[in-house]
Amino acid sequence: MRGLAAVLLILTLSFPSVAVGADEATMRGYSPRSSQTERDWETKFRAIPDPANLREYMRRLSARPHHVGSPYDKDNAEWILAHFKEWGLDAHIETFEVLFPTPKVRVLEMVEPTKFTAKLDEPVVAVDPTSNQKSEQLPSYNAYSIDGDVTAPLVFVNYGLPEDYEKLDRLGVSVKGAIVIAKYYRSWRGVKPKVAAEHGAIGCLIYSEPSDDGYSVEDVFPEGPMRNPNGVQRGSVMDFASSNPGDPLTPGYVHSPEHPRLSLKEAKSITKIPVLPISYGDAQPLLAALKGPMEPYEWHGSLPIPYHVGPGPAKLHLKLEFNWDIKPVYDVIAKIPGSVAPDEWIVRGNHHDGWVNGALDPVSGQSALLEEARALGQLVKQGWKPRRTIIYAAWDGEEPMLLGSTEWAEQHADELRQHAAVYLNTDSNSRGTFFMGGSHSLEQFINGVARDVEDPETKMTIWQRRQLSDIAEAHSADARNELRQRADLRIEALGSGTDFTTFLDHLGVASMNLGFGGEDPEGIYHSIYDDFYWYTHFSDTDFVYGRAMAQTLGSSVMRLADADVLPFDFVDFADTVQTYTKDLKKLLADRQDEIRERNKELEEGVFKATFDPRRPTVAPPKEEVPPHLNFAPMENAVESLTHSAEHYKHALQSAQASLGERSADFLRAVNAQIIETERKLCNDDGLPRRSWYKHLLYAPGVYSGYGVKTVPGVREGIEQKRYAEADQEIGRVAKALEDESAVIESAAQMLEKQ
Ligand SMILES: [Zn+2]
Repeated sequence: MRGLAAVLLILTLSFPSVAVGADEATMRGYSPRSSQTERDWETKFRAIPDPANLREYMRRLSARPHHVGSPYDKDNAEWILAHFKEWGLDAHIETFEVLFPTPKVRVLEMVEPTKFTAKLDEPVVAVDPTSNQKSEQLPSYNAYSIDGDVTAPLVFVNYGLPEDYEKLDRLGVSVKGAIVIAKYYRSWRGVKPKVAAEHGAIGCLIYSEPSDDGYSVEDVFPEGPMRNPNGVQRGSVMDFASSNPGDPLTPGYVHSPEHPRLSLKEAKSITKIPVLPISYGDAQPLLAALKGPMEPYEWHGSLPIPYHVGPGPAKLHLKLEFNWDIKPVYDVIAKIPGSVAPDEWIVRGNHHDGWVNGALDPVSGQSALLEEARALGQLVKQGWKPRRTIIYAAWDGEEPMLLGSTEWAEQHADELRQHAAVYLNTDSNSRGTFFMGGSHSLEQFINGVARDVEDPETKMTIWQRRQLSDIAEAHSADARNELRQRADLRIEALGSGTDFTTFLDHLGVASMNLGFGGEDPEGIYHSIYDDFYWYTHFSDTDFVYGRAMAQTLGSSVMRLADADVLPFDFVDFADTVQTYTKDLKKLLADRQDEIRERNKELEEGVFKATFDPRRPTVAPPKEEVPPHLNFAPMENAVESLTHSAEHYKHALQSAQASLGERSADFLRAVNAQIIETERKLCNDDGLPRRSWYKHLLYAPGVYSGYGVKTVPGVREGIEQKRYAEADQEIGRVAKALEDESAVIESAAQMLEKQ
């Protein structure tokens, strides 16, 4: 609560009202009358979601393990289907047959200097009633690890990021021919075996370090919410960011007699080396048996051992074999047909499969989605007729790597490219502040929704709570100023890690990923302890944030589905792209300075002077200073984008009063242009070396995984020292932004026609 009263005072003084246009009561994209009608329906809607229902959905859906291919996964899909139908939605299941490996052999033992066999087991916890469903639980493993049988010395690689290997180089330690052990977090898990293999390692272990999600944070389960010594994080290591998510045997398409599967050997996204996740209970004896240099200080974790890097003398034997089976995934799809513009679609999704019982991930999100569907069904019975078609999707196979949503989106790619206006995603949900990520043309829209939903704990709006929490955490006066002055809170750009990926990155559908969190630490992610007992003791125990999630997402769906003109805004968007351009220029300048400085220090003998013969280090190599790049085409494109964004904003403001008198055909033509704006940010050839990714502004990073790379072609070009490529990418991005600007301009001109 530090300084909250003071902050509130400043807020009321310097931020008197929220700029939403000439007439503040009228929602963007609505006429004054349709805006009032919409507000009435949304108010009715937000009164319906009930925490008791959310609790009951979670109890039911997380009662047994429900991973892909398990009986309860199918049972859940059928149960969800029955409920969609009961609530009056037009629902069906779409089934896809996909590659889903499960463990057959898992052996991890230390053979030198002492013997130790890893348990690889998460034990039953007496107070937790579902932790004993042993026969139905998937053992701990990383899906899409390749089979392997390797024996080699061990090397500790911190988080296993590219920069960690640079540090190892400085210590004179190589991982060639070794098995590496990396900590979870700081990057998506699949980056760790990828980078290890690129450096010549032949096996990879990933462990949960107690300083990240164990006893250093809070008490461990079942006394507290954190990971106990035997808890393991399962998860996919499919190299989706370098190729594509979805079934590795059908990249970019769905299996059919005319489009057969690739062979396992041809699949690009299976790891190059075997990889296994382990608990800190299993990791500690292995790490304790390492010698060699001490780790750099910042690598230390909180296990009670001296942290050495190796290699060896610890020598490990790692043997992994998997059942490479084809399994069905069951996507449950429900529709409410649009009354005026049925060919414009608003799609809303959350997955239903879990790694084990999955109460937090994904059922906390799935329960909210179900409660929204029930409430919307009630409104339809009361006479509400959404203008556009609404599609609710309960995806299967998200955990292995977005299997259900990707195959569905690939199956329906042509229709989605034509009809899909917006995709709204959630995954897990817990207590805390509202987080907003997505396409920046929706930034203003989602800020508007957030101003209309009440935060269950503080009773302020979820928008205010977000703003004030951000002020509390801001690191500079500039950041605090912006939070107080700018009409909209900035939203995060989307990387990956959940089901929006194919919609946004492959099809160019404007997308958002939303939820609540931040108050409760979670040390049960992807373990057998992510279950109803844990959630109802350590997370949103009374399901009021589940209700807030249903209220927020349902209101968003309604507001998008009912607007006369889709409520996109391009002023915030243009502002964001401008910050990206500045970031990229700074990134390049920082690189140049850094390399110039290092080269100078090499010449001066700084590394010789600091060499300690008892703790020998290797000087870094001399490097060529990066060339200057020409950002002018992008800067010019951003200028014209800013201009057309302003033009569109004014055109829409002037047109709003008369939107109610416009013909359906006229509005359809305007909305077609708005829908087109996100597509224009895509390029059919895709990103360099990963053509499945079509979006030129947002992508998961090849070396960050779920973490986003904005303007990825240019940014990764600079980061990976491919300067000629970065230069070319600037040209492609500039061209896309010019095209974007032209569509926005054309929509503005249409609105101005009488
Ligand atoms: Zn999830």
